Amino acid sequence: MTIAVLAVQGAFIEHEKMLQELGADTFEIRQKSDLDRHFDGLVLPGGESTVMGKLLRELDLYEPLKEKIKQGLPVFGTCAGLILLAKELSNDEKRHFGTMDISVKRNAYGRQLGSFYAEETIEGIGIVPMTFIRAPYIEKVGDNVSVLATVDGNIVAARQGNQLGISFHPELGSDLKIHQYFLDMVKGA
Ligand code: GLN
Repeated sequence: MTIAVLAVQGAFIEHEKMLQELGADTFEIRQKSDLDRHFDGLVLPGGESTVMGKLLRELDLYEPLKEKIKQGLPVFGTCAGLILLAKELSNDEKRHFGTMDISVKRNAYGRQLGSFYAEETIEGIGIVPMTFIRAPYIEKVGDNVSVLATVDGNIVAARQGNQLGISFHPELGSDLKIHQYFLDMVKGA
């Protein structure tokens, strides 16, 4: 199984290491020609969504990747990657792929709580460590979206078909359960 990791900006290397540890092959998407390779799933890492969105468009990656996601390519967005997937951003004019029927608030925890740690249950996965870094959360979900986890009443993980979005950084630390869940999603797709 081959997973492509968007590598134009942000924390992509850590995702690759975890996916490789679980036996997946990975490669990085940095330019349009990388899309010629076959891949079974896509990871959109954390970082800065505004920068990633801009680079996606400048590098002509935006349309082809959006089309693949719409066609059902399994995708896993974390933090800024979640923001890229959201159909609506409640505190930003911009939209990126907009393929997931969720409304997301960027930097939702404000300045004081710029980053923090929690442990919570994700439905279908179990208890996982959650590292939040200037994190977004999901304010609203559409009918086709399942909420998988909340922290203090805020939605931090959700799934819509082959799209998985979480607001924290699962690639920091050593717990591989969420990446395994994504690989199982890819297998089942
Ligand atoms: N605050 C970032 C954004 O709005 C997301 C932070 C992250 O990915 N750790 O894009």
